Amino acid sequence: MSRVYNFSAGPSMLPEEVLKQAQAELLDYNGSGMSVCEMSHRSKWYMDINTEAEELLRELMGISEDYYVMFVQGGASQQFAAVPLNLLGKNKKADYCVTGNFANKAYKEALIFSDDVHIASSSKEDNYTYIPKDLDIRADAAYVHITNNNTIFGTEYHWVPDTKGVPLVSDMSSDILSHEVNVNDYDVIYAGAQKNIAPSGVTIVIAKKSLVDDPELCLPYTPTMLKWSTQGKEHSLYNTPPCFSTYMAMLVFRHLKKLGGVKAMEKYNQEKAAILYDFIDSQDFYKSPVRKEDRSLMNVPFVAPSAELNDKFVKEATANGLVSIKGHRLVGGMRASIYNAMPIEGVKKLVEFMKKFAAENK
Ligand SMILES: *Cc1c(COP(=O)(O)O)cnc(C)c1O
Repeated sequence: MSRVYNFSAGPSMLPEEVLKQAQAELLDYNGSGMSVCEMSHRSKWYMDINTEAEELLRELMGISEDYYVMFVQGGASQQFAAVPLNLLGKNKKADYCVTGNFANKAYKEALIFSDDVHIASSSKEDNYTYIPKDLDIRADAAYVHITNNNTIFGTEYHWVPDTKGVPLVSDMSSDILSHEVNVNDYDVIYAGAQKNIAPSGVTIVIAKKSLVDDPELCLPYTPTMLKWSTQGKEHSLYNTPPCFSTYMAMLVFRHLKKLGGVKAMEKYNQEKAAILYDFIDSQDFYKSPVRKEDRSLMNVPFVAPSAELNDKFVKEATANGLVSIKGHRLVGGMRASIYNAMPIEGVKKLVEFMKKFAAENK
């Protein structure tokens, strides 16, 4: 068996220890004689997994009892609809910070439910290479939506917007658990799991109870399954949850806790990203398209001097066990996604390869 360093933007690497544990438990979970894939979601075994997943996430992120924590299906893209459906209320005004492709998709989805969706900031004119600092937020907006880390463009909010009391919703699909956040600074956080947490299939929603329980806010035609109150109150067990992905998330949470929690991950991620960015800044073969202060710790786009060299880089990197490093078609070049589970050795190996490739192709 030979495992590669997988720089995929998602689904992405999982900790080897977690994969091994899942493998060991696959045929007989905890003496049940069956796999987590095969058991009732009402069984004691699964209820314990569900409870432990929620408790560990609360502990890792410091989530108080003022928030519901949900493990739901549908991906982050389904939350693009759930956010307006659960929050728009009567005035139906929403403000969006458009800092990338997913941010734009979230904005467009809101337009399905309201014709009063306002762009509070946008970096589109500069191909999303930075995070705008000035936000034009309407005081009577139902909420402001941001995309905490822009997976495709490699930018990240390293600060929390001051919304002057307007509820703040953040899509943290690609940076959840990678750095410390004060959950109380946000009203809703959601994240697809397949970047930093688990296999695809489970989506995490952390939502303030006072908003979810306010009957004025949820649009009357919201489908039962998209109502946060449905899943929040039932601890994600209203219907059959994504059992196996939630179990994998629980194993990853245990693993993170053992490593020292989010604070330790943040330090590790800063170290990894610095190796890559310091190298990129130290030479002039490769370039980073992103404004320095807004660079993502998770997704690092970079380009070689020509389209031909980009293609050659991807091909040769793959042959060297550095895979899925091709950039998104909207940016081109390469993108190294270095989520929590990417070992520092993988980043070092990538930089060594980049040096060698540059020397051979100058
Ligand atoms: C990947 C991603 C999404 C889309 O997630 P799905 O689970 O595929 O719907 C949305 N937002 C961000 C920031 C992402 O990185």
